[in-house]
Amino acid sequence: MGLQKNVSLLHYNTFGIDVNAKYFQEFSSLENIKEILSDNSLKQENKLILGGGSNILFTKNFDGLVLKNNLKGIEVVSENEDSVFVKSLAGEVWHNFVLFCIEKNYGGIENLSLIPGNVGASPMQNIGAYGVEIKDTFFELEALNIHTLELVKFNNSDCKFGYRESIFKSIEKGNFIITSVTFRLKKKPIINTSYGAIEQELEKMKISNPTIKDISKAVCSIRSSKLPNPKEIGNAGSFFKNPTVSLEKYNSLKAEFKDIVGYPQNEDKMKLAAGWLIEKTGWKGRQIGNAGVHKNQALVLVNYGKAKGEEVINLAKEVQHTVNQKFGVLLEMEVNIF
Ligand code: FAD
Ligand code: NAP
Repeated sequence: MGLQKNVSLLHYNTFGIDVNAKYFQEFSSLENIKEILSDNSLKQENKLILGGGSNILFTKNFDGLVLKNNLKGIEVVSENEDSVFVKSLAGEVWHNFVLFCIEKNYGGIENLSLIPGNVGASPMQNIGAYGVEIKDTFFELEALNIHTLELVKFNNSDCKFGYRESIFKSIEKGNFIITSVTFRLKKKPIINTSYGAIEQELEKMKISNPTIKDISKAVCSIRSSKLPNPKEIGNAGSFFKNPTVSLEKYNSLKAEFKDIVGYPQNEDKMKLAAGWLIEKTGWKGRQIGNAGVHKNQALVLVNYGKAKGEEVINLAKEVQHTVNQKFGVLLEMEVNIF
């Protein structure tokens, strides 16, 4: 479909926020996107690259061009004795890519099953779950420079991956369209069950010697039981990042709040469970207007129907304020705000 004007984004963001884009166009090939970006009448417009819309909160109409990524294709590009290098174009649905790899018994991303969104957005915040982040298997990506139309390769260290971070979410935000991502996966998978509720779930499934397919099933089952399904209730997953504090700060909090949940990070830092902090301030399950804090997972803000992005942001600010007042910890938003 060609360029469309004044398009509702309601069905293009999992928060279910009803805003319009001034211009909207899907692209399904590199030539296609280069052609759009070369169009003089669109050069001055703001651009937003849209994947599955599962990590976005729109607070107003988008005054510019929304480019919906529809680049499809998965292929094995090379292999050696231990590893296989699998390249996915950016518009593939992330979970379909995970299933493709599991089917072939290529190990490394099974713990990342059922994360919504597209492959192209996965490096943006170095998606992570159950003790695994994509940086662990990421080999390289290709991205088109929006300004020069040059196709550039980024290897693992170029991306400067951090906790739910990369250069694409910070200094290079808006400068590149990620067009493909290549992962280095293991031919002999190493099973990682130590995180969260995976072991309990496997026990429930009566599996003692799990394959990567079993891990994926366990992860899918836990996620489906805990997280609100965006098809039923609008949300973008964790709204805030888990904050990292100094060991000193952690110890002073621990003295006051005996059951505080923290995990050692590198050197003398501790990661706090933001969900726990929010729950302890009494926000879990509360609602202001059409926006609320989910009843099962306090880290997830939800749209109970027709929330405006501003209502969600106002709620997020209230939550930040109360957590900061009680614990002296500032929660950083994980979701991309537009
Ligand atoms: P979008 O929301 O479309 O875009 C997100 C950002 O990336 C935007 O700034 C966009 O402009 C940019 N972008 C998208 N595609 C490209 C591209 N090709 N090139 C350049 N920029 C691009 N995240 C986790 O890390 N772990 C989880 O376990 C997790 N669980 C979730 C559970 C639920 C129920 C939901 C709703 C979300 C969850 N998320 C999780 C967040 C989200 O799924 C991920 O961040 C996902 O990678 C977003 O992909 P997307 O295609 O929907 O990106
Ligand atoms: P959970 O298992 O109840 O754990 C609560 C928090 O404690 C998580 O945020 C997790 O941090 C941390 N944690 C648990 N076990 C840990 C360990 N062994 N070592 C270090 N940290 C540990 O979390 P959940 O809400 O059900 O989510 C399960 C996984 O899915 C988590 O990894 C979470 O990040 C991911 N998830 C992410 C989103 C998102 O939108 N970003 C949404 C839903 C779920 P981490 O978050 O750092 O892993």
